[in-house]
Amino acid sequence: MSYCSRCFERHAIIFVSRHENGADIDEGFCLKCAYESGISSLEKQLAASGINAGNVDEMSDKIEISILENGTEPSMSGFFQSLEKTEYKPFVSNRESNTETKNKMIDLEAVRKFFEGDKYATEATGIVIEKVEKGHSVVSLEPDGRHLNAVGGLMGAVYYTMADFAFAVAENCELDSDTVTVTQATQMNFLRSWHGGKVTCTADIVKDGRFICLYEVKAFDTEGKELALIIVNGFKTARK
Ligand SMILES: [Zn+2]
Repeated sequence: MSYCSRCFERHAIIFVSRHENGADIDEGFCLKCAYESGISSLEKQLAASGINAGNVDEMSDKIEISILENGTEPSMSGFFQSLEKTEYKPFVSNRESNTETKNKMIDLEAVRKFFEGDKYATEATGIVIEKVEKGHSVVSLEPDGRHLNAVGGLMGAVYYTMADFAFAVAENCELDSDTVTVTQATQMNFLRSWHGGKVTCTADIVKDGRFICLYEVKAFDTEGKELALIIVNGFKTARK
């Protein structure tokens, strides 16, 4: 999203074209700047929507907060519609309401390619993505000497990295999404010690909210014994 071409502080939500020196110049303004610069075509609409000199600052702030929280590109038509329905409703991402995305086919190779960028997980640690769909993933690791602590056990950080990565893959596998979910908090529970062999982590969504989500991640050994249970809270933000 682009910033307002007048104040450069808030995001642009109103776009206009003007003709200057034989060229069409497209400009985007925030609500406040659009109001203050008196874009003629907007005056009536703004007035009809109850926006005036007394509340334009407050409205601009509300819109900016909404954009920052939801990462949604609002349209003015949506804005005016929302004003008509209630006093004021912030723009919301279409993520949550779109249940179709839950069953969307995810290209495993494309997801693997994208997450190669997560170098700490894939290169430094050596985690492999085995399976992915929206809200669910399986990742694995063949631990070697680099992953061990001083007494020959598996470092807790290995489980953490696997859990964080499994969560990120499950939550962000829709590569064309306009939002990205980042880790907000993680709770680690070590259940059993590791006695060698491949470690597999499964991540499953428990709760999907508008701004946050909660995942349960489990680490297993080759016999299917549960080594760790990790709870990950995610926060949804705009994809840059
Ligand atoms: Zn502005």
